[in-house]
Amino acid sequence: MRTPVVIGNWKMHGTVAEARVLAGAIRDAIRRPRGVQVVVCPPFTALAAVAEVLAGSPIQLGAQTCHHEPAGAHTGEISAPMLADLGCRWVLVGHSERRKEIGESDEVINLKLRAAMAHGLTPVLCVGETAEERRQGFTFTTVEGQLRAGLAGVTAAQMEKVVLAYEPVWAIGTGVNATPTQAGEVHGYLRGLLSELASKEAAQSVRILYGGSVKPENVDTLVAEPEIDGALVGGASLNAPGFVAIVRKAARAGTAPKE
Ligand code: PEP
Repeated sequence: MRTPVVIGNWKMHGTVAEARVLAGAIRDAIRRPRGVQVVVCPPFTALAAVAEVLAGSPIQLGAQTCHHEPAGAHTGEISAPMLADLGCRWVLVGHSERRKEIGESDEVINLKLRAAMAHGLTPVLCVGETAEERRQGFTFTTVEGQLRAGLAGVTAAQMEKVVLAYEPVWAIGTGVNATPTQAGEVHGYLRGLLSELASKEAAQSVRILYGGSVKPENVDTLVAEPEIDGALVGGASLNAPGFVAIVRKAARAGTAPKE
């Protein structure tokens, strides 16, 4: 059975003081998570402070992106070894906001993913189609292209350590989530591709999270879907009680056998 993961992506929100309060509230509410792994991804500016708040807690620290080079003349960038040095264990790569706003290509995303793994971070490779791509029937083609390019040059053994997040762009921050059936179809497709790229066994062990307007009200039905192994949560992760409720519900799905 795959242990579900719930990741809070705080995006570009909060002062250091606010991040400390949010992390402290989550830490205090989730002392011994059972059947679920919990990760928070604060902005870079708050990573050190949140690392301090979470010291000794089972809640793990992640970052929202990284540069693909370990060091060098890359003004404004942060590398994977720098994140590891701060206590990060996870990093998001290929989030649709970065693909769109920064113009991150699949090739760069692949370099980031490999850099993350080389420095002991778990990469969360985000894939997902736009509304227009879905309307035109290109959902599977889009995510397949993103997955194949994102995992290029990654060995079968390394693939088992990658976490995938299916995040339909039309569901991010809109309040409209994919239905469990819609998400389940894409997750199943991605798992099939992983079987081909690595092996059936490796594919069965990879966690595939769903992201896009996950809330306490819809998380149960999403994580009850056998192919959904947790959630990447944006907006709702900024509210400690709401995020904690999502974690608890995902944990129940993690301990209850899915059909
Ligand atoms: C995200 O940005 O990864 C995300 C899932 O956002 P939201 O939950 O706000 O839709």
